[in-house]
Amino acid sequence: MPMEERTVFHKIRDGELPAEIVQSDEDVMVFKDIHPKAPTHLLFIPKHFVASIADVTPETAHLPGLLILKAQQFAKEQGISGYKLTFHVGEGGGQEVPYLHLHFMSEEQIA
Ligand code: AMP
Repeated sequence: MPMEERTVFHKIRDGELPAEIVQSDEDVMVFKDIHPKAPTHLLFIPKHFVASIADVTPETAHLPGLLILKAQQFAKEQGISGYKLTFHVGEGGGQEVPYLHLHFMSEEQIA
């Protein structure tokens, strides 16, 4: 991918841009949203780049489910009982960063 097409989330994923990383494994990275809209507002991204739900193919269709599973596991680990999960899709759907991400928002605080 040409450098100019790399998004801020590519740079966070690759350690080129600082972020408050909450957890990271070989498949998924979780970091705090820089402009939180809830007491807990995290972003879950796959390490494998897909631009949007609109770009998911049969080969990458497991990635949104993986993000949801990671969010569910994170909530259990943190003892968070209620949360919202959101994918913005395309500019008309309010998506600003063209790198697939799951918003995790909760009124409850993480440790
Ligand atoms: P979306 O509208 O779904 O594309 O959401 C993009 C989110 O990324 C917004 O909630 C932004 O506040 C957040 N964001 C943008 N740049 C950064 C950054 N450098 N670190 C953390 N979050 C960011």
